[in-house]
Amino acid sequence: MDKKYKCFALFSGGLDSMLAVVFMRKLGYEVQPIFFETPFFSSKNAVKAAEHIGFKLLVHDVTTDHLKMMKNPRYGFGKNMNPCIDCHGLMFREAGRLMEEHNVDFLISGEVLGQRPMSQRKDALNAVGKLSEVKDLLVRPLSQKLITDTLPIREGWVKKDEMLDIQGRGRHRQMEMAKEYGITEYQNPGGGCLLTDIGYSRKLKDLIQHDLLDLKYLNFLKVGRHFRLNENMKMIIGRNNDDNEFLGKLCTDEIVFQTADFPGPLGVVQSRWDLKTEEIEMAASLVLRYNSKIKEQGKVNYGLNFSLENQIETVKMKPKDVEKLLI
Ligand code: SF4
Repeated sequence: MDKKYKCFALFSGGLDSMLAVVFMRKLGYEVQPIFFETPFFSSKNAVKAAEHIGFKLLVHDVTTDHLKMMKNPRYGFGKNMNPCIDCHGLMFREAGRLMEEHNVDFLISGEVLGQRPMSQRKDALNAVGKLSEVKDLLVRPLSQKLITDTLPIREGWVKKDEMLDIQGRGRHRQMEMAKEYGITEYQNPGGGCLLTDIGYSRKLKDLIQHDLLDLKYLNFLKVGRHFRLNENMKMIIGRNNDDNEFLGKLCTDEIVFQTADFPGPLGVVQSRWDLKTEEIEMAASLVLRYNSKIKEQGKVNYGLNFSLENQIETVKMKPKDVEKLLI
């Protein structure tokens, strides 16, 4: 190779992205792994994975654009709340935008044809390409022999016969390559993104349905049990001391509930308007449910943030009623 071409590697920290990076480096390319961070996918593991193969990861935050996209992804969601096709499209577009600044000639990704049901089918790969303006600059080294040539191949920057033809869900060839490259630590494929988690997705869907998709409310999803009491009210109850502390720090204009006579979990209510008496009673009854010291009935202090200047006495909610409210 005369000129040393430089590529961005869209890097998730999973084994396939690690293999694509090492593979291209071995062929003589300058590779810069890049990670697009969102509240749903932290860069922490990807940073470690990049270090493991001797690279410093470039982390680029795309939260604002990602949240906008989440409200109405053009290609919809996968099994959970994962809009993988649009998400890949966004990452490619962002990578394309950063190319000039970083003196990058083309992009690579560790996608494998036919491996994942949604984002990596051949038609989906093309759909991602159409979303992005950088379709023609993308090379997928692990499957490139099987998919349409892009500019780096047509121009001879990347030789097609040096690329691979991995496809399907089998991991055998990837394991062999990992061994050959001395990669001993890697995450499970697809791991790391909260949007693929069923429990998290339920809570997130509730936020989107109630028009609460912003950073503050997303932070609350990190801990506790979540309940939808009615269209106006959502309640979060800490599972342990750490949760209670975390919730306490996040409160800015929430109504906090706590059992009066015995220590117990914190209940935090988020509501669009002032609570009616029956709504206060419902929240108090729910917080009593998670206090094992209360048998039937108890007193609950409550108030805006931590000024627990009000008190209500009510009965503990029945388990079957609690279940109906759980998100
Ligand atoms: S798994 Fe998560 S980060 Fe990956 S493409 Fe899908 S939505 Fe985006």
